[in-house]
Amino acid sequence: MHQTTASTCCYCGVGCGVLIEHDGTRIHNVKGDPDHPANFGKLCSKGSTLHLTGDIAARGLYPELRLGKGLARARIDWDNALDHVADRFAEAIREHGPDSVAFYISGQLLTEDYYAFNKLARALVGTNNIDSNSRLCMSSAVVGYKRSLGADAPPCSYEDIELSDCLLIVGSNMAYAHPVLFRRLEEAKARRPEMRVIVVDPRRTDTCDLADLHLAIQPGSDVALFHGLMHILLWEGWVDRTFIDAHTEGFEALKALVRDYNPAMVSELCAIPVEALQQCARLIGNAPSFLSLWCMGLNQSTAGSAKNSALINLHLATGQIGRPGAGPFSLTGQPNAMGGRETGSLSNLLPGHREAGNPEHRKEVAAYWGVEQLPETPGLHAIDLFEKVRAGKIKALWIACTNPAQSVPDQRGVHEALATCPFVVVQEAFFTTETCRYADLLLPAASWGEKEGSVTNSERRVSRVRSAVPAPGEARADWSITCDFARRLEIRLHPEQPSRFDYQRPDQLFDEYKALTRGRDLDLTGLNYALIERIGPQQWPFPDGSVTGTTRLYANRVFPTANGRARFIAEHYQAPRERREARYPLTLNTGRLRDQWHGMSRTGTAAQLFGHVEEALLGLHPDDMRRRRLLEGQLVRLRSRRGSLILPVTRDDTLQPGQAFLPMHWGDRFLKGLGCNVLTLPDHDPLSKQPELKHAAIEVEQVALP
Ligand code: SF4
Repeated sequence: MHQTTASTCCYCGVGCGVLIEHDGTRIHNVKGDPDHPANFGKLCSKGSTLHLTGDIAARGLYPELRLGKGLARARIDWDNALDHVADRFAEAIREHGPDSVAFYISGQLLTEDYYAFNKLARALVGTNNIDSNSRLCMSSAVVGYKRSLGADAPPCSYEDIELSDCLLIVGSNMAYAHPVLFRRLEEAKARRPEMRVIVVDPRRTDTCDLADLHLAIQPGSDVALFHGLMHILLWEGWVDRTFIDAHTEGFEALKALVRDYNPAMVSELCAIPVEALQQCARLIGNAPSFLSLWCMGLNQSTAGSAKNSALINLHLATGQIGRPGAGPFSLTGQPNAMGGRETGSLSNLLPGHREAGNPEHRKEVAAYWGVEQLPETPGLHAIDLFEKVRAGKIKALWIACTNPAQSVPDQRGVHEALATCPFVVVQEAFFTTETCRYADLLLPAASWGEKEGSVTNSERRVSRVRSAVPAPGEARADWSITCDFARRLEIRLHPEQPSRFDYQRPDQLFDEYKALTRGRDLDLTGLNYALIERIGPQQWPFPDGSVTGTTRLYANRVFPTANGRARFIAEHYQAPRERREARYPLTLNTGRLRDQWHGMSRTGTAAQLFGHVEEALLGLHPDDMRRRRLLEGQLVRLRSRRGSLILPVTRDDTLQPGQAFLPMHWGDRFLKGLGCNVLTLPDHDPLSKQPELKHAAIEVEQVALP
């Protein structure tokens, strides 16, 4: 019988509503949900082909266990699989302590899954060694919001994109990475041609097609640009002194710092003409409403936190926050990166936007979970985590719904770590990923269209994810795998205690989690599954008794800091960690394509999605190709200080001379060798610990044919 189930797209942070058409056993089609406020029926090429992806041949159908390194894995039943892993984790914890185990989870997980993992790691195991692949994606934005505004809360809504008079898009190829949102912007600009769009990007991406002004910035120099714009705003008197005096602190220090960032200096450093800098400042300074949008181009940097704060400074100086069409708006990469931040799924966080390093916060959560205390020792962030695994400090590692063997920088080191770790569990829907190869135990997880829960999109909107068809084989929902394991571990570690993981349904996890948000900036206590069913997806905060969500934060000009004031952050520009030099004269930028998603475990199963770009190609400026006597499609070797890759080269005049671009999606299943992260460096931002995935020094040379 034909049925339709409303759910949410499982790809990017736009969080589009989808209608799944199915017969209860098979999904036949996917349409945009006209009632979902993120997309009003629109879908991009990825969302609209969801039903064509997820090839059963790529799926994990039953647990597989390897009884010794070097041996093949064999099928095992769930009971024995989970007992075995509980034995191994209990043994590691007893012999080497709770910090000898670690969990590496994902922005693809649902909020309920995240919460279960967090409670497992911190309350049951007693470790803060739980980090998420959101570390590679959004952790600089988390720091930026918290330092400048007092809480990790994007203050805007998608409707602000349509209402704004001036949009500054920085380090984001929205046209590819957030296509439905970009479509909303295109339509708004067509309706309101007076709207001005400025794009800051070293590449002339498809997003630039909409730009009134494109600043082709020197990679990594964003902080200098933002300080240079602040310098001009001050010089011209385009700042809002009333707002600054009444609602902020730290302005004088910033004013002194940006004195050095005069237009001539910034022009040279950023490779942007002085006139373009002045035009940009004029547009921002005179706009009735000014909104900025950013993504990985700012976040994935050793100066990611400073870049976020320097951009937010522009909003505070002009008073452009907390009103329609205005504010600093980070776009999240993954479908539930926000849910991870909310439930505390970075090693330094706790549920409800709390800090693992804050004794009061630990006490609150420990009391709620009914444990004596939560661990104090700081947890490992993604980069350190794999280094510690490689150093033999982690005896058992659990990876869920992510593929670090492809996505974490300095890929060879990660492969070495996974190969030597005594026990690796991988909980995955697709058993084809590079990481699965290293699993001692593979646990098949349900995927999109097969599981229930919730996600939060970039505009703080909580939507339901619903199941339409059963998971194939013996695959199970992620929260259910986690809780089943936790119950078995409890018996081994604390047999005298009643279980804290006795959940039968995901809404029980949601309801337990939301109580931890009471009184916090993201208060969700008024929301539940039944209410979302009735009134649709809602934006937090949504405290008890609310009838609707919150469109915009800080409308009252009060910020969640100790004194209610937002803070200007005054930090100098720092050059990217790895300089170009004679042996490595090109800058490598990595990023997304329009029709692929992450490591292609899902999108790589649909032939249609290779129509846009068929294979991994290194893009080089025509001058750099000529200088190296390279021809279109010729095989080249890319070398960085960490490794090399061989793949075809293509002319790309959207790049500046001296720059190279490589899509992030292809791993060693598609390339002969490893993926782009064999070249990238693990150096990371000192505060956010987010690695520098947008800037590695490389050289490109012809491959001599035999
Ligand atoms: Fe899915 Fe993002 Fe495309 Fe929307 S824009 S359909 S959420 S991939």
